[in-house]
Amino acid sequence: MKKLVTAAYRGEDTVKQVPYGTIKTTDGSVPPGGADAAEINRLNKVQVLNLVWRRQPISRAQIARDSGLSPATVTRVAQSLIHREKLLMDVGKVRSSGGRPPIHVAISENQSLVIGLDVGATQIRGTLVNLRAESQAELAEPTPTNREFLDVMAVVARMIQSLQSHPAAAGRKIHGVGIALAGLVNHQKRLVEFSPDFRWNDADVFAALSPRIKLPISCDNVTRVMAMGELRYGIGRHVENFVCMNLGYGIGAATVDHGRPIYGSRGLAGELGHLCVDTTGRRQCKCGNYGCLEAVASGYAVASDGAALVAKAGRGVLWELCQGKPDRVTAELVAAAAQGGDVGAAEIFNRAAGYIGLGVATMINILNPEAVIIGGGMAQAGSQMYSIIEDSVRKHALERSARGVRIMPAAFGMRATLMGAVALVLDELLNLKGPIGSALL
Ligand SMILES: [Zn+2]
Repeated sequence: MKKLVTAAYRGEDTVKQVPYGTIKTTDGSVPPGGADAAEINRLNKVQVLNLVWRRQPISRAQIARDSGLSPATVTRVAQSLIHREKLLMDVGKVRSSGGRPPIHVAISENQSLVIGLDVGATQIRGTLVNLRAESQAELAEPTPTNREFLDVMAVVARMIQSLQSHPAAAGRKIHGVGIALAGLVNHQKRLVEFSPDFRWNDADVFAALSPRIKLPISCDNVTRVMAMGELRYGIGRHVENFVCMNLGYGIGAATVDHGRPIYGSRGLAGELGHLCVDTTGRRQCKCGNYGCLEAVASGYAVASDGAALVAKAGRGVLWELCQGKPDRVTAELVAAAAQGGDVGAAEIFNRAAGYIGLGVATMINILNPEAVIIGGGMAQAGSQMYSIIEDSVRKHALERSARGVRIMPAAFGMRATLMGAVALVLDELLNLKGPIGSALL
């Protein structure tokens, strides 16, 4: 029987096939606007793109067998994805068992580029990469110290323009820009609804950048994009259910469930940093509440505690590392001092790691992941951090829930959020949706 293809509406890369005449999504609903020819064409392209992403290099004949699409449809779709959308490329002839060798296709590595930016509290990093996330150019600039939204966006725009005009971009198509931002980011509206670290409210990223940047732009919460980076380029290639924790200046979490990130009703899910872990806590969080995980265990909290220790102690390993100047204390210095035998610094570090472990245990109890990925600056602190987290998980997570859960560092270390910004663009391209994916249609 002739087949058409449709998809679950919330996760186009989990495409299922249905017989002709029963065009509907896998949850039984008819897609908005109906399954017209253009939509079916888009879904066919999405199916081919995702097959190629997972199985590349792959022959057209194999795509037809695995997808259920007719060979003629696969040929037509592949031609378009190679020459029009420039997302795939022919990779020549690969030896086969007999007959005429088939020509294989793979994700384009030559024609197509994307830009990713990570807007951190102290530094903004940018990268120009191909669709395999291989770096073509890198940039970094300090975040404006006033953290005013328009000043930060001016730096972001300048960095995008620099990457656009980089020699590596000459003659190649830049599909779009992905931006990782801290706080409650409304991905669909391209709006930062609230960012405690930057003190932004309803900051309109698209309105700020679109007069200067003509490329399609997408943005999302920094930890969710980190999870998307893991999904596309890291552990997600083998694991479908995992949690990413971003332990940096603030603390965030993002969940991937059956291969798709969880957004929540308005796209604001994952604010683990504002889980109350100390109900008697007198330390106010930047969100305004008291006793939040972020207030007691973030890089900011550890640095603040370290600065107080230096001001009081007058000596010790941490005091020496910062030359007696409290304003020079960072979370990294506290971790180094703890490893160097500073008892006070070790207390600060171990207390923070214990709270982080409580956060990990909570995520394991609620979400039943296969793995917990730890990223961000605090994750660089070494094995001591992981042993404290594992100890805390043993104490606080249900034994059955925690059984077999792997707790491991992010695949890309300090580049995890930057790779996430790249993955945000890639996700839209592979699903031909969102501002960047839709621009191709
Ligand atoms: Zn808070």
